[in-house]
Amino acid sequence: MDISIIGSGYVGLCTAVGFASLGHKVICVDVEKEKVDKINHGVPTIYEDGLEARLKAAVEAKQITATTDTDYAVKNSEISFIAVGTPSKDDGSIDLTYVKKVSRELGKALRNKDGYHVIAVKSTVVPGTTDDIVIPELERHSGKKAGEFGVCMVPEFLREGKALHDFLNPDRIVIGELDKKSGDIAEKIHEKLKTPILRKNIKTAEMIKYASNTFLAAKISLINEIGNICKKLGIDVYDVAEAVGYDRRIGKLFLEAGIGFGGSCFRKDISALLKKADQLGCEPKLIKAMLDTNKGQPLKIIELLEKKTNVKGKKIAVLGLSFKAGTDDVRDSPAAVIIKELTDKGAFISAYDPNAVENMRKRFPGITYADIGECLDNADACLILTDWDEFRQLEDRDFDKMRNRIILEGRRVLGRNKVRGFEGVAW
Ligand code: NAD
Repeated sequence: MDISIIGSGYVGLCTAVGFASLGHKVICVDVEKEKVDKINHGVPTIYEDGLEARLKAAVEAKQITATTDTDYAVKNSEISFIAVGTPSKDDGSIDLTYVKKVSRELGKALRNKDGYHVIAVKSTVVPGTTDDIVIPELERHSGKKAGEFGVCMVPEFLREGKALHDFLNPDRIVIGELDKKSGDIAEKIHEKLKTPILRKNIKTAEMIKYASNTFLAAKISLINEIGNICKKLGIDVYDVAEAVGYDRRIGKLFLEAGIGFGGSCFRKDISALLKKADQLGCEPKLIKAMLDTNKGQPLKIIELLEKKTNVKGKKIAVLGLSFKAGTDDVRDSPAAVIIKELTDKGAFISAYDPNAVENMRKRFPGITYADIGECLDNADACLILTDWDEFRQLEDRDFDKMRNRIILEGRRVLGRNKVRGFEGVAW
């Protein structure tokens, strides 16, 4: 089928490459001309494992093209996905500026198109958004009634760092549909994926995404709190998590204690859900507490560090900047919180990341970026903040050139039998 995707960021681009892998033709749309040009040259605008080779092949096979022209994209496809950002406003509520703008543009494009076309919302939006904002905008600007064009809400569950794997091996596909005709088309484009397809109404699909993210963030928050208690008791929380994870009601994944969750989704989505709940007169205390817990978690590593040394004027090596391994995304990265706090306290940061340096440099242009050896050379302490495989290879002698051998992990990466004397933030 011919598909267009409006918004070529992390989700839009990975989804485009995923659909191309299933044999579809995809038109990527973005407002940023530079991103469009890169995609047309087969160059990804983000780092994601395996993306470059697949994008290049898809562009060469003319399965993926990119444009800034939404009208053209709608004319030349049967279904358009909205995959633009839905950031937080200052009060935590969802900012729907981009979604509204794209809905308007898609509405205008629908006006100029004769055949049936489906609009599918993939951006994470609070329940009610598609019905109350997207559809009215589409109707107003197209001069058509929903039903004359199709509408779906198809939430995205991919994990950055494993986005392509997750696209091709999803646990399930959720389709919230306006009517059967829209849902059938959304189902058809996913039919090669051997996975359960759950068809719901639109509002339910929107809520499923928030519920999933809330459960995942809760699991991380819980193991972090258990880890904080374990730390005081001298217990290794990873030994605890291993045994707890055997319980199938709990499961093994997402039980990695550390410096807290980051990334573009969990905090913003939970904040948006809390705001929505507030408007509805609900008070989800547990969900609110998760954000508080997570906010304090990155600072635990600084507390630990300050027990060992005064940080003012010291050189601190920071290894790992992205919010998790496998991505260059530094949005809401715990490393940013830690770097800010340490520089405020007068420390000098020397930082390394295999893929996220350029993104972090935009945020912290004044710190030093170097390779691992230079970062560790004469450092007064080393903080490991992302679980990149590269850090798992570090050996004892790699830390020999440090002035002070203080090695703290915010993510569990170092091997006890390889490196002496390191300590974890919650183990
Ligand atoms: P992003 O910021 O990386 O990408 C958004 C893209 O949309 C940008 O390239 C931007 O230039 C483009 N854009 C903005 N306005 C546009 C317009 N009018 N026309 C065309 N393009 C426009 O965002 P993202 O991380 O890909 O997230 C997109 C949505 O998917 C969000 O709602 C997010 O919550 C959700 N989501 C993200 C993830 C994730 O892991 N990043 C996972 C699941 C769901």
